[in-house]
Amino acid sequence: MLKTKYQQNHNRICNSPDCEELGLYPAPKSRNNLKEYYYFCIDHVRAFNKSWNYFAGLNEEELEVEIRKSVTWDRPSWKFGTKTINHDFEKAFKFFDEQKKIKKNKVIDKKLENCFKVLELNSDSTLKEIKSRYKILAKKWHPDAQNSVASTNNKDKFIDISNAYKTILKTFTKLETKK
Ligand SMILES: [Zn+2]
Repeated sequence: MLKTKYQQNHNRICNSPDCEELGLYPAPKSRNNLKEYYYFCIDHVRAFNKSWNYFAGLNEEELEVEIRKSVTWDRPSWKFGTKTINHDFEKAFKFFDEQKKIKKNKVIDKKLENCFKVLELNSDSTLKEIKSRYKILAKKWHPDAQNSVASTNNKDKFIDISNAYKTILKTFTKLETKK
């Protein structure tokens, strides 16, 4: 009797180390090897998918090199892509998730830093300082406050200041709602 795909998957155990859930969700082993799958439970397939973007475009060998390069290694016999994936598998994914988060935060920080620069402020300025600085600068650079030549030349400056102010305010609002 032919088994359905569900029944086939139903007999599998999640490939993630120490997980005893059913491996109901297939995940391709690599972008270059879409016909071979790991089978994970719902939680682990999510973790796997999260890491997918980072690994995109790498074949298994390159993947292994990447992971070996970045993770402190205590099990040199471990090989990515074998059936006996051990704890390093999860460790590696967690590591890459963290790295991605750090990178993202840094990009945001840089953007924010630049906004403070536009307002000629330090990034540890208080909301009150930011507001009063914005008022001063907006008044100074407002197109209405200048003659027509200067107003055309400085149009971008006024827009930059407004955008920087908006971005900073947004960040502050987010911080406030998090508290
Ligand atoms: Zn699992």
